[in-house]
Amino acid sequence: MKNILVTGGCGFIGSNFVRLALFALPECRLVNLDLLTYAGNPKNLSDVENDPRYRFVKGDICDAPLLAQIFAEEDIDTVVHFAAESHVDRSISGPAEFIRTNITGTFTLLDAARQAWLGGAEKSAGCRFLHVSTDEVYGSLGETGYFTETTPYDPRSPYSASKASSDHLVSAYFHTYGLPVVTTNCSNNYGPYHFPEKLIPLIINNALNGKELPVYGDGKNVRDWLYVVDHCEAILTVLRKGRLGQTYNIGGNNEKQNIEIVHTVCDLLDAKVGLLPGGEPRRSLVRFVKDRPGHDRRYAIDAAKIRDELGWSPAVTFEAGIEKTLDWYLANPEWISAVIDGSYQAYYEKMYGER
Ligand code: NAD
Repeated sequence: MKNILVTGGCGFIGSNFVRLALFALPECRLVNLDLLTYAGNPKNLSDVENDPRYRFVKGDICDAPLLAQIFAEEDIDTVVHFAAESHVDRSISGPAEFIRTNITGTFTLLDAARQAWLGGAEKSAGCRFLHVSTDEVYGSLGETGYFTETTPYDPRSPYSASKASSDHLVSAYFHTYGLPVVTTNCSNNYGPYHFPEKLIPLIINNALNGKELPVYGDGKNVRDWLYVVDHCEAILTVLRKGRLGQTYNIGGNNEKQNIEIVHTVCDLLDAKVGLLPGGEPRRSLVRFVKDRPGHDRRYAIDAAKIRDELGWSPAVTFEAGIEKTLDWYLANPEWISAVIDGSYQAYYEKMYGER
């Protein structure tokens, strides 16, 4: 691993990964290819942008000539592929972009790696393509059970279907061309630099500002939450030690109902910054809204394979992680206000009505 191409490195998980990788892999150079969609924010990496081992390229993973140029110029031997359209609600209102980026984009990137690496056996020696995917490809669980790496795919939203398609393409490139791939399927992440359309940062931002807290349905949908830096550590572990052609589930062992998350954030904020101006606790801001169509009830990951084979398990408990996350948002109000620009507001108003 010498020259790493990270795609989508200006997004939430990608930016946390770039920061960690520059620190953890001092011998490596890193190229971050990101189209800077609404979700990509170069400010997420302002602290590392002058590192001589880091280069940012604004561009599209669907742009085959650009990819060929980056692979050749930068002598890329490792790809960590985060770039995606990632928000389920947006995939329901506008699926086309999800098909383009998540399926066509992943295909274009795989094919660029194939052309760069498979010209001869020596070219691909030591190369690795890590595809970052989600547990949502497995569909929805009932009250019991866990997703394992052999759970059949059963995606329910255009987002999860597009990620499932990309996972299949990655697997096909391994079986058909011998491309050195590995895939990770991770549960819900939370932490710093999370775009405030997703549950936890949305609730933090609204609760801080005394705005209503929209919660889908009865609030009892369950997700398995993982602190983002733990996810990035897991990706580094799979890059170093994962077996080619394998998939690894990554999870936090932290199943929580959405409403529990909302209450936790409210209570912590009440304790940290005081009650609302009228003396009310922030829980009073909760408003249950019409459920998301096809809303999966429960996700839970069995992460035994990555633990037993590669020795990774999460280091940060939910209690510690949510506290760190809140502290980060409280310390970085200018980050939130810069992110909440006109386009985010218009989207927010379309989804939840004007506030
Ligand atoms: P994000 O939406 O915060 O970031 C996506 C990034 O990709 C942005 O910087 C965006 O500008 C970039 N991008 C989008 N289209 C692009 C294109 N065509 N070319 C180049 N760059 C493009 O997403 P995230 O939450 O950081 O998720 C990253 C990856 O991890 C995604 O593949 C997602 O499916 C996966 N994942 C996310 C979670 C989670 O909880 N957020 C959980 C499991 C897996």
